[in-house]
Amino acid sequence: MEKNIAVIKGDGIGPEIVEEAMKVLDTVAAKYNHKFNYTQILMGGCSIDAYGVPLGDEALEIAKASDSVLLGSIGGDTSTSPWYKLEPQLRPEAGLLKIRKELGLFANLRPAYLYEELKGACPLKEELTEGGFDMMIMRELTGGLYFGERSTEEENGEMVARDSMSYSETEIRRIAKRGFDIAMKRRKKVTSVDKANVLDTSRLWRKVVEEVAKDYPEVEYEHMLVDNAAMQLVKNPKQFDVILTENMFGDILSDEASMVTGSIGMLSSASLREDKFGMYEPSHGSAPDIAGRNIANPIATILSAAMMLRYSFDMDQEADDIEQAVEKVLKEGYRTTDIMSEGKTLVGTKECGDLIAARI
Ligand code: NAD
Repeated sequence: MEKNIAVIKGDGIGPEIVEEAMKVLDTVAAKYNHKFNYTQILMGGCSIDAYGVPLGDEALEIAKASDSVLLGSIGGDTSTSPWYKLEPQLRPEAGLLKIRKELGLFANLRPAYLYEELKGACPLKEELTEGGFDMMIMRELTGGLYFGERSTEEENGEMVARDSMSYSETEIRRIAKRGFDIAMKRRKKVTSVDKANVLDTSRLWRKVVEEVAKDYPEVEYEHMLVDNAAMQLVKNPKQFDVILTENMFGDILSDEASMVTGSIGMLSSASLREDKFGMYEPSHGSAPDIAGRNIANPIATILSAAMMLRYSFDMDQEADDIEQAVEKVLKEGYRTTDIMSEGKTLVGTKECGDLIAARI
């Protein structure tokens, strides 16, 4: 298979970690006789330095014309970098918001997976996580409270602030379908999270999810109130496979879920739309404090590349190979500084990428 991938290395540790992900992708391509054509584009601070804008039109067109986008991370030190003295619409993060919007990426997917080898980093009691956990948070990304009308006005001598939340059936249906599709590639369970005892948007959410569920008879599904979900994530995280939820609930629950895994350098993510197109990036930022020192953990980006193979290219076996190679490297005791512990072997960014590629 031949695929065109737009590559955004970005700022800070971005170039170092994306280089390792491309190394791993090339190893997979050689093994399975695929061809991945990369076109590098600038976004974030590096684009500001080169063109004065965080995302140029040409870069955007290249991303639109590709089969998927692989992104490192963008941005600099927000208190010292000159990029943050610019108008908000010219700062690095404006490039990220623009590309998500222009590419129509409405679904955010964040796995939370506890590696047996890294369970010491998990803040939960061992008896709660025995055997590990493996869940996927599917968060709606372009609707709800964050995109509703808002105002702050004086009324009767005091300030009153309002934010409004709305969801259409179309918005709910398309994310629900993506959630059930993802569940079909996993353990076939969906937990739809809402606040249907209070909110109208949640009651509509529940109704539409039930309609969509009828098309997926193999998938077991349940509804859970968001307050209970927040509790269950720390009480019994093993029960979850795919958590399907709206924008704000997903924002909060995905951070909670990633915290219980204990390691930011390991967490991948994807932003998807209705077709196979997606943008894949680590959940962490550009870590300017450690950039250029060959010490960043490339695993989140390498696992994001694996997600790209699985969800955009339907290359499940190839994605499995990458995930298993990561697991092997951890089992053999290799660690970057962020996940280092006593008795393990410390490796740099490049060496970590080499070790993973060599096990594919
Ligand atoms: P960060 O995630 O970059 O870093 C937080 C801490 O985690 C730092 O100590 C860093 O060294 C460490 N860390 C992060 N990734 C690591 C890795 N792969 N290996 C080892 N250690 C790692 O968050 P921050 O410091 O709040 O933000 C830095 C910049 O990144 C800011 O400009 C911010 O706006 C940007 N940012 C970008 C994205 C993105 O590109 N999607 C996301 C979040 C933050």
